Amino acid sequence: HPSLKREYTFDNFIIGENNAFAANAAMAIAKNPGTGYNPCLVYGGVGLGKTHLLQSIGNSVYQDFGDSKIIYVTMENFTNEFIQAIREKKQHMFKNKYRHADVLLIDDIHFLQKKPETQEELFHTFNALYDSNKQMVFTCDRPVSELKEITDRLRSRFERGLNVDLQPPSYETRYAILKKKIEAAGVQIPEESINLICENVTTNVRDLEAALTKLIAYAELVNKSITVEITKQQLKDFFSSPIQKNITIAVIQRNVAEYFGVSVQELKSKRKTKTIAFPRQVAMYIARDITEYSTTEVGLEFGGRDHTTVMHACDRIKERMKSDPYLVGQIDSLKKAIRE
Ligand code: ADP
Ligand code: MG
Repeated sequence: HPSLKREYTFDNFIIGENNAFAANAAMAIAKNPGTGYNPCLVYGGVGLGKTHLLQSIGNSVYQDFGDSKIIYVTMENFTNEFIQAIREKKQHMFKNKYRHADVLLIDDIHFLQKKPETQEELFHTFNALYDSNKQMVFTCDRPVSELKEITDRLRSRFERGLNVDLQPPSYETRYAILKKKIEAAGVQIPEESINLICENVTTNVRDLEAALTKLIAYAELVNKSITVEITKQQLKDFFSSPIQKNITIAVIQRNVAEYFGVSVQELKSKRKTKTIAFPRQVAMYIARDITEYSTTEVGLEFGGRDHTTVMHACDRIKERMKSDPYLVGQIDSLKKAIRE
């Protein structure tokens, strides 16, 4: 299928407890599109396998029901196509294409935020397909309830059917994924190196792959076999998150505020409502985690708060992260966005 990556198949997707619910839902949908879990929405942080699963559905349906019309599109491309259709006065063609899909797979719907006209168009597309029992699957980087900038009626459409989440992989799943990728690459890597990578690269599968890719490339290009020493030396950036000096607290505040749909002023304000206090704690935690500012300096940037308030906020977030893998993922995505 022209818009799907061949490698994104269920066979290549390692199932662990972190993704079993989502993976099994995706496989059930691929077997009987349009009949059961419709729509389905898969959410989770960056690099956890949303695109892989979504395209696996497409590849599987394409294989089993070759004549169905499968459309895979990112929300961003859908939006761009829609804008272009308006510009070229070809809306009817656009509508015709999407409203006649048998299986519509839309990746990264969080991109819809603050795009009212595209939301409107998707709303009508949704209704047309829903009424004719055509399968829709969406992915999103957070639960739909946390998409602040989409209309309620569209949110309620996404919340229909089945919403499943992807969590960061456990040690065992990371190990299984690495083993599979090493086998596929046909390289020799000592067991201790594999353990090192699994222990240290905990964020998501994309980082795990990136670490492995770098190691394999190094061994190939300098023509050495992979040892534990080489692993440590080549992957030191993956193993410790280096403190970046150029990140300001203002940048962190902007990113966190935007993510949670509050304003920077509110983050700095004295307000204690949960919707503001929580993002504020997250911002403080990230500031302490990825910059070298002291708790006193961080406090000053948050409306002149005391350093003990900052310490308390960091403790609260750390505590919550222990039992809330979703928050771990959120903070990870935020850190990535900030570093970029
Ligand atoms: P997302 O869309 O959630 O950001 P991707 O689907 O792009 O994540 O996944 C990132 C990379 O990790 C891809 O190369 C994908 O194939 C791989 N990947 C993710 N989850 C798994 C898994 N459970 N088993 C094997 N590979 C995975
Ligand atoms: Mg993706």
